[in-house]
Amino acid sequence: MKTLNMYEIISKKRDNQKLDRKELEFVINGYTKGDIPDYQISALLMAIYFNGLDHYEMEWLTKLMLLSGGTIDLSNISGKKIDKHSTGGVGDKVSFIVSPLVAACGVKVPMLSGRALGHTGGTLDKLESIPGMNVFLTKDEFKETLEKTGMAICGQTDDIVPADKKLYALRDSTATVNSIPLISSSIMSKKLALLSDGIVLDIKTGRGAFLPSLDDSKKLCKTMVGIGEMNGRKTLGLITAMDQPLGNSVGNSLEIIESIECLKGNGPDDLMEVTYAVGSAMLVAAGKFDDLNNAADALKSAIKSGTGLDIFRKFIKYQGGNEKVCEDYNMFEKSKNVIELRADQEGYISLIDAYEVGMAAIDIGAGRRSKEDSIDHSAGFVFNSKEGDFVEKDGLILTVHTNLSENIDAVILRLKNSIKIVSNRVKTPERVLFFADKSGLFKWRDLF
Ligand code: URA
Repeated sequence: MKTLNMYEIISKKRDNQKLDRKELEFVINGYTKGDIPDYQISALLMAIYFNGLDHYEMEWLTKLMLLSGGTIDLSNISGKKIDKHSTGGVGDKVSFIVSPLVAACGVKVPMLSGRALGHTGGTLDKLESIPGMNVFLTKDEFKETLEKTGMAICGQTDDIVPADKKLYALRDSTATVNSIPLISSSIMSKKLALLSDGIVLDIKTGRGAFLPSLDDSKKLCKTMVGIGEMNGRKTLGLITAMDQPLGNSVGNSLEIIESIECLKGNGPDDLMEVTYAVGSAMLVAAGKFDDLNNAADALKSAIKSGTGLDIFRKFIKYQGGNEKVCEDYNMFEKSKNVIELRADQEGYISLIDAYEVGMAAIDIGAGRRSKEDSIDHSAGFVFNSKEGDFVEKDGLILTVHTNLSENIDAVILRLKNSIKIVSNRVKTPERVLFFADKSGLFKWRDLF
């Protein structure tokens, strides 16, 4: 039998040849155990970045990553369990709003989430802005929270897809994150490790997404839905716009406050549009509804009745947080400085570049430059106007919440440059673009 070695495996992928199961197994097992050094895996990741993987390779890579660790069995939790995952964005707080609403409709929502990555925010960092909140749960605590409250959100445990933990950190520092096969295998191996009844994927597209082009987002969506279905999991995908930040706030505690406001019925249109789309897909995936419209109506009722907010409070309490934050926003850390950014001309906002806003959020400490950085939970931006809105000269566009007193001018300049105002009326952009199931990809608006 031929012995395998990394040099030959890297050369094969560099020359655009197909890797077989044994070679992929050698890579994943060897790297997880620490037998293969980072520099060789980095070279292989870059070769995959340029030459891609075919369906067979991707299927095996995902499976082998999944097999690198254990799974979380949810079979003794009552009812249907639907997992939701976003590919990452700026101001994306949908998980905090949609999970309690879906739970209020009788479907449980288990979620293993991550930290801020590059210019995008992290679900766990946002939750940690709630005083006392614990995002490190044991499997039993995770299941108990899910059973008792209807939702649970925690970080990946050490034995869940350890291969991804190591590979992701390496990709983050070797500029190999934004690759369709690498994103697909990373996300889907984690989704498959949590033994839910179904998965709903929110694939972001546009300036603030990891894969900005719509063509790439469509490929990523089809690939991930295909992997989920191939593994016997009902999987639905949505492609939603991430050109400008989602909702009005960007930054950890500011986004939690906005989420609570959404559950009180005061959510901005763009954020609620995405929330209802994702939530209705989750209810359809669970078999609770056949029709997306009826499912969205049920989510709206859960806001009106206050059941969604009640579940969110209960979830916070179960995970060690102080649920009184839902009534008293002063319990969140506050930034020392609030600086206004006003329009220097009147007109319509035609651009708020989500990528630049995400990078500016890192500049003020709301995100991380490197894994070791700590986060300022209070820092961020609150937008008063969004794309399509008219602003007067000197009208308020946004406020910057920061504890910094130096280098703020550079951040303000970056934000100013990321916003464009024009004299012609601009259409409010569509937020939900495509829906995918195992039969294909459909324009969202054609479904109604
Ligand atoms: N989120 C993940 O978990 N993995 C990726 O590769 C990208 C986003």
